[in-house]
Amino acid sequence: MTEVINTRCCIAGGGPAGMMVGFLLARMGVDVVVLEKHADFLRDFRGDTIHPSTLEIMYELGLLDEFLKRPHQEVKELAGEVGKESVFIADFTHLPTHCKFLALMPQWDFLNFVVEQAKRYPRFHLKMQAEVTELVIEDEVVAGVRAKSPNGSLEVRTQLTIGADGRRSLVREQAGLEVIDLGAPMDVMWMRISRQPTDPPQTLGHVDKGRILVQLNREDYWQCAFVIPKGSAEKVRERGLAAFCEEIAGLSPFLRDRVSELRDWKDVSVLTVTVDRLARWSRSGLLCIGDAAHAMSPIGGVGINLAIQDAVATANILGPKLLRGTCATNDLQAVQRRRHFPTWAMQRLQIGIQNNVIRGVLASSGTLELPLALKLLRRFPILRRIPARVVGMGFRPEHVKTSKVDLASRGIASS
Ligand SMILES: Cc1cc2nc3c(=O)[nH]c(=O)nc-3n(C[C@H](O)[C@H](O)[C@H](O)COP(=O)(O)OP(=O)(O)OC[C@H]3O[C@@H](n4cnc5c(N)ncnc54)[C@H](O)[C@@H]3O)c2cc1C
Repeated sequence: MTEVINTRCCIAGGGPAGMMVGFLLARMGVDVVVLEKHADFLRDFRGDTIHPSTLEIMYELGLLDEFLKRPHQEVKELAGEVGKESVFIADFTHLPTHCKFLALMPQWDFLNFVVEQAKRYPRFHLKMQAEVTELVIEDEVVAGVRAKSPNGSLEVRTQLTIGADGRRSLVREQAGLEVIDLGAPMDVMWMRISRQPTDPPQTLGHVDKGRILVQLNREDYWQCAFVIPKGSAEKVRERGLAAFCEEIAGLSPFLRDRVSELRDWKDVSVLTVTVDRLARWSRSGLLCIGDAAHAMSPIGGVGINLAIQDAVATANILGPKLLRGTCATNDLQAVQRRRHFPTWAMQRLQIGIQNNVIRGVLASSGTLELPLALKLLRRFPILRRIPARVVGMGFRPEHVKTSKVDLASRGIASS
C-alpha cells in the first residue's frame, strides 16, 4: 500500500537548506512536508560553521539567545601560517551584525534546534527515514515525489517540490537540470586530534612545502582539514599512516605528541571537493536550493550559510504565493535571480583562490614566502575586516521578511 499525502510544499532533504525553508514556510502558515532519508542528523565532518549572517537570521527570528545556549565555540579571528611566518587574516569583531564571531556547532545540534523550532508550528511535518526515489511528473509539471520508508512507500502530491537533497541530488538529476561543473584541484581529509589548554586559541591555517592544514578550535579537540591534490587520497594512504602523521606534525609541531591518536585510516574521512552550479534552478513545480543548486568549495566554510540564505530568500519570495496557492514558474525563477549573484560571486572567489593559491601551493616543494596580500593584512590590521565581511556575511545577505502565524491564538506556547 502506498500512503498518499497532499501538501502545499514538499521538501526533499532535511539538511540546513531543507530544514530552514521548511521551518520558515510552516512558521508563516504554509503546509510543508520535509522528507529526510536518514534516521537522525548524526554525521561527522559535515559543515559545522555557523557564520554571522546565519546568526543574524536567528536574531531576526527572535531565536538567537536560545540558539547560543547550545554548546558552541566562538571564532573572532582567523589566523594563518605561511612557511615560518604567522599572520592574522580575518577579524570578525567589527561586523555590522549582532554576533561578531563565527560559531562552531556540530551540524546535528544546529539541525535539531531548527527542527525543535519548526515542530511548534502545526503545518510543519517531518518524515525521517523517508528517501525520495522518484519525481512525479505529469504533463511536464513536477507534481510531487515518491519515497520509500520503513513503513512502506509514500507519494507526496504538492504544488511545489523543493530539491534540498545536497550535492548528489537525485531530484535535480531526475528533473534533467543541467549541472555546470566548475572543477576543483583538491580534496580534503578530515580528522580530529585532541586539544590541550596550552595550544594556541585561534582557528589556524598552515601552508608550507606543498601542504595545507586547517585547524578549527573545537575546545577539547582540533577539527583538522588536510588538503590534498584532487584524487590523491589513495596515494596518501599508500605512503602509510605514519608518514601522514609526520606531515601533520611538520605543519603543526604542537600536535606532534598527539598525532598518533590517528590509529587507523577509519579516523580520517575524505571529502571529495565539488564546485558546481545548476544552469537553471527550477522547472515547472520544482525548485532546487542549497548544495542541490550549487555545491560550494570548502574555502571559507560558506556552504551551510549559502544554503540557509537560499532558504530565507525562497520563503521570502514564495511563501506569500504558496499561502495564496498561486506559485508560478516565474516565481521560482525569481529565487534564482535573487540568489544567482551571491552564489556566482562566492564561487568566482573560491575558484580564484583554488587556481591561483591552492593549486600552486600543492605543486610546490620549497618553503613558501608570505604573499603580498597577506603582508598587507599584517601591516594594516584594518584590512582584515574585508575577508571577515566576505566570509562572515557573504554577498547580498538575506533578511527574514516573512511573518509568523499567531501560535498563542491556537493555544500553543510561543517560546
Ligand atoms: C566533509 C564536509 C565538510 C564540510 N565543511 C563545511 C564547513 O565547515 N562549513 C560549511 O559551511 N560547509 C561545509 N560543508 C558543506 C556543507 O555541509 C553543505 O554546503 C551544506 O550542508 C549544504 O546544505 P544542504 O541542506 O543544501 O545540503 P546537505 O547538507 O547535503 O543536506 C541534504 C540532506 O538531504 C538528505 N537527502 C539526500 N538525498 C535524499 C533523498 N533522496 N531523499 C531524502 N533525503 C535526502 C541528506 O541525508 C541530507 O540530510 C562541508 C561538507 C562536507 C561533505
